[in-house]
Amino acid sequence: MGLVRFDCRTCQRHSTGNRRRMHLSGQAPHNSLDLTTLALKPGEGRRLDLELVPEALEMGGERYEFGPEPSPGRLDVSRTASGHAMRLELSAKLHGLCMRCLTQAEFRIEVESREVDQPGSGDEELASPYVNLDELDIGAWAHDAIALALPQTLLCRPDCAGLCPECGVSLNDVDPAEHLHEREPDPRWAKLRELTD
Ligand SMILES: [Zn+2]
Ligand SMILES: [Zn+2]
Repeated sequence: MGLVRFDCRTCQRHSTGNRRRMHLSGQAPHNSLDLTTLALKPGEGRRLDLELVPEALEMGGERYEFGPEPSPGRLDVSRTASGHAMRLELSAKLHGLCMRCLTQAEFRIEVESREVDQPGSGDEELASPYVNLDELDIGAWAHDAIALALPQTLLCRPDCAGLCPECGVSLNDVDPAEHLHEREPDPRWAKLRELTD
């Protein structure tokens, strides 16, 4: 299977290589796929390899960017009696500040998400918010799935030691046994000494 590249910056010349039956929409919404171009009959399925460049995420006032290389992923689409069942797998790499030591770090996130779209069923639950008139918005789906899969705290490493509360130096860069500060004498002792001198 060849790679299908989904990228807002390159979608104007969406090269699909050997996958001529695969059409990528060049107009907004970006990163979308017209499901009817897969021409699946009920019971049939198709697996597509993808390369996505998800939109940057904001977390805790900080911006987390993906890339620079696209995130590899895989989309499985099965035709059901009255719609489609879809599964998206994505392995994304994003970078931004570690939330504990505030240094630039890289984070890896594995995402797996499923969607069902049965437009004729009359059941709201069975209509995917990412499918609009057979157009699957892979970009929006990937964005939401990544946001859900992210941990609450993005750390440069699980045991990130954070910052020294006294001087702000990253405790990952120093030996904690050697990085010690003179303890300020308790002001009450100073007062007491004044009284007894
Ligand atoms: Zn850190
Ligand atoms: Zn310190």
